[in-house]
Amino acid sequence: MTKIKNYIDGESKEPSSDEWLDNYNPSTGEVYSKIAKSTQEDVENAYQAAKEAFPSWSNTTLEKRSKMLLRIADLIEANLDKLAEAEAKDNGKPFSLARAVDIPRASANFRFFGNAITQFASEAHESVGLNTMNFTMRSPIGVVGCISPWNLPLYLFTWKVAPAIAAGNCVVAKPSEVTPMTAYLLGEILTEAGLPKGVLNIVHGTGPETGQAIVAHQHIKAISFTGGTTTGEHIARTAAPMFKKLSLELGGKNPNLIFADCNYEKMLATTVKSSFANQGQICLCGSRIYVEEAIASRFKKDFVEKVSKLKIGNPFDEDTNLGALVSKEHLEKVENYIEIAKNEGGTVLFGGKRVSVKNFENGYYLQPTVIEVEDNNCRIQQEEVFGPVVTIMTFRDEAEALQLANNVKYGLSATVWTNNLNRTMLLSKQLEAGIVWVNTWLNRDLRTPFGGMKDSGVGREGGFEALRFFTEPKNVCITY
Ligand code: NAD
Repeated sequence: MTKIKNYIDGESKEPSSDEWLDNYNPSTGEVYSKIAKSTQEDVENAYQAAKEAFPSWSNTTLEKRSKMLLRIADLIEANLDKLAEAEAKDNGKPFSLARAVDIPRASANFRFFGNAITQFASEAHESVGLNTMNFTMRSPIGVVGCISPWNLPLYLFTWKVAPAIAAGNCVVAKPSEVTPMTAYLLGEILTEAGLPKGVLNIVHGTGPETGQAIVAHQHIKAISFTGGTTTGEHIARTAAPMFKKLSLELGGKNPNLIFADCNYEKMLATTVKSSFANQGQICLCGSRIYVEEAIASRFKKDFVEKVSKLKIGNPFDEDTNLGALVSKEHLEKVENYIEIAKNEGGTVLFGGKRVSVKNFENGYYLQPTVIEVEDNNCRIQQEEVFGPVVTIMTFRDEAEALQLANNVKYGLSATVWTNNLNRTMLLSKQLEAGIVWVNTWLNRDLRTPFGGMKDSGVGREGGFEALRFFTEPKNVCITY
C-alpha cells in the first residue's frame, strides 16, 4: 500500500512517530493508502530545512525563480493524466473534471506566479519641494506556512505555495489529510524540476496536530489558510497574539440571484453547474438560489428537469457528472442538513437520497438535491452545507433580493443574472461579497483579488495581492 510520506529538505521522509492515518477512496469506501501522521517534531524539521534554504532562495534572481516556477508548471502539465487520476481517486470527483480544471489550474498557478514575479514592482513617493524621496522595498517574509482544504486539493495547495516561493519565501505546507495524494506527488515533481532543497516542504497529518504545530510555530511568520470558518477562527486566535500575518479564505453561503430579464438558457445551464460542480463542494457554489416571482414556476420545473438528468457514478466513467462525496463523515453531515431542512418546512423538489452505484456500493454517493424553502432564517439558508444541495426561494423585487442575499454571516461570492445595467451596477455595489459574477460563474482571471468579506475571510489572494501578502514592505526615506 502506498505510503504518503513527508517531503522535507528535498527528500521523502517517514514521520518521526512512525504513525500513519488511513486514506480512503471515497468512490469505493476502501482504504487505499497510508498518510504520515506528522508531529511537532516533523514540522520543526521542515522549518529547519526551510530556514536553511531561505538565505540562498531569497537572493536568487527573479529570472531564475521565474524559470523554476515555469519548469514546475510544465512538469505538472506533462503529468496531467497521472495527477488527474490521483485526484479523482483521492477526492471522489469526476476524472474529467480533475483533468479539465483541477490539474490545469495547478499548473496555471505556477505559470502565473512565475510570470507575475517578473512584473512585481514596488513604489516610490517623491515629497516634492522637500528634497525628499521615499522608496519602498518589498522583501520576502522568511519561512511561511500554507494550509489547504480537501475540495480542490492540488488547485488550492498550489494557489498558495506558488506565490509564496515566487516572492522568495521558503514554505512549510500542509495539504488536507482527507486528500493528500496530489500534494505528495508534487514532491516528486519539485525534485525533478530541481527546486533547491528546503524551499518547499510538505508535511502531512491532522489539522489539530500538524496544522496547529505550523500555526503555533514561533518563527513561521505568516500563515495562508483556506478552509472552514470555525478552523479559521481557531487559527486567528493562535496566530494573532504572535503578530503573524494572516490570510484566511473561509466558508461561503453564496446567493444566486435570478431576474426575469436574464438570458434564460445561459442562466439555466450555468446554474446547474454553480449548484453541483464538484458535488457542490466548491466554496464558490451558489447554494442559495433566489428567483424572481415572475419566472419562478418555469424555473423550478426546468431546473429540476435538468438536474434529474445529471449522472451520478464512478468518477472514472466519462459521462459521470457527479462523483462521490469526499468522505463518509461529510456524506452524513450533508444528509443531516437535508433532514434539518425538511424538519424546518423545506420541500424537497428533487433528490435527497443516497445512490448505490453498481460495483461501487460502498462509495459515498448522494443525489443532487433541490429544496424549496420559505424562511430565509432557517438553518439550511444560514449554514454552509458544502455538498450537492441547493435551496430555492422567490423574491418580488430587487430590494427584497438584495436583503435576502445579504442576510447571512458569510460574504464570499454572489451571482446575478440580469440584463438590466442599472440593476447590475447597484447590486454589484451593494452585495456583501468579495466576488460578484454577473451573467457568469467561476470565471477567473488570476490577476484579480480573490477572497471574502464578513465571516468568509480576511485578506485577498490572487495577482499582486498574493505577492504583497508574502512580502514585508519597508519604506526608505532619503533627503538630499
Ligand atoms: P477545514 O477547516 O476542516 O480544514 C482545512 C485545512 O486546515 C486542512 O488541511 C486541515 O487539516 C487544517 N486544519 C484543521 N484544523 C486545524 C487547526 N486547528 N490548525 C491548523 N490547521 C488546521 O476545512 P475543510 O473541511 O478541509 O474544507 C472545507 C471548507 O473550506 C469549507 O468551509 C469551504 O467553504 C472552505 N473553502 C474556502 C475556500 C475559499 O477560497 N474561501 C476555498 C475552498 C474551501
